[in-house]
Amino acid sequence: MKITDVRAIHLALPTIAKRSDGTQDALIVMVTTDAGITGVGEVDSSPLVAKAAIEAPMSNSITSGLREVVLGKDPLEIERLWHDMYQASRYAGRRGLFIHAMSGIDLALWDIFGKATDLPVHTLLGGAFRRKVRAYASTLFGDTLAATADRARWCVDQGFTAVKFGWDPMGQDAKYDEQLVAAIRGAVGPDVDVLIDAGQVWDAKTAIRMAHRFEAYDLYWLEEPLRPDDVAGYAELARAVPTRIAAGEAESERHSYTHLMDTGRIDVVQIDPTRTGGLTEAKKIAWAAYDRGRSVVNHSFTTDINVAASLALLAAIPEAPLFEFCVEDSPIRNQLVRNRFEVVDGHVHVRDDPGLGVEIDVDVLERYAVGV
Ligand code: MG
Repeated sequence: MKITDVRAIHLALPTIAKRSDGTQDALIVMVTTDAGITGVGEVDSSPLVAKAAIEAPMSNSITSGLREVVLGKDPLEIERLWHDMYQASRYAGRRGLFIHAMSGIDLALWDIFGKATDLPVHTLLGGAFRRKVRAYASTLFGDTLAATADRARWCVDQGFTAVKFGWDPMGQDAKYDEQLVAAIRGAVGPDVDVLIDAGQVWDAKTAIRMAHRFEAYDLYWLEEPLRPDDVAGYAELARAVPTRIAAGEAESERHSYTHLMDTGRIDVVQIDPTRTGGLTEAKKIAWAAYDRGRSVVNHSFTTDINVAASLALLAAIPEAPLFEFCVEDSPIRNQLVRNRFEVVDGHVHVRDDPGLGVEIDVDVLERYAVGV
């Protein structure tokens, strides 16, 4: 089997609001083969820039767009192609955007592998340790305390046993930040897990103070309280507070993650297969985390392609306490895939369709495609 084309399709809502909401656009990657099998992947990044990283022509032997690297190659040689893409882009890549772009191709290759062998990707990754993962509802803070509390109650009404709120306006006013957390805890009662995503806002001393302030509300974890590069700050925070600290969505590829784990001492390692270098790299990071006694969860704030890849990953590792399930109301997030993953009794359930097992709704793809 040979790869015949790689297409990167930019999707966007007609209006993009300035808020921390990754569901407003997407980059979908389609890899076609001479066997008639098409694999689908996704990139959560700056879509047009990642598209350029895929489509750019070669500048020299260590500066190439990714499409050129894989064209004509056997799509089942996934590890080798990952290495080839990494090496061929290393002058501009190695971290960040090129790794994001590689993720989309890598996921499409796993999808092809599954479709070619009639096996689900979790089997190809080594086998499912579980058939379901407890989901947490992931959303943004409301505009008011009351709206935030209403949203928390709505999540519980949907059957979630854990809820996460994040980003704006956290970090602007310590008193209001505490009121937000109190409102959520008050709305969901004592038996639902509450997670807070601060959104990269504090220095270490402030984060330590805020984590202590939040202790009264019994958080399951505090996520990304610090700027991603403040790894020394993460270490200071981890030493100073009993609350679990979660991070990782700002990282790409394994060296960045092991630095955050070994120097930053984070407790919960958040892996996004559409950003970390696909499932090939995500699996390595997940097992590195397991070996260090850390929890692994997904980061998923885009479409059900991401959900399918995340679920394959979390199924195929020994421990997976929670699954991030975005409940933002975006048509790109909610309509692109026909056979959506639903939360039933608070859990996302593993499916056995070949590959990633997602059916793209072509009408929705075309409706939100930009420049096609
Ligand atoms: Mg987050």
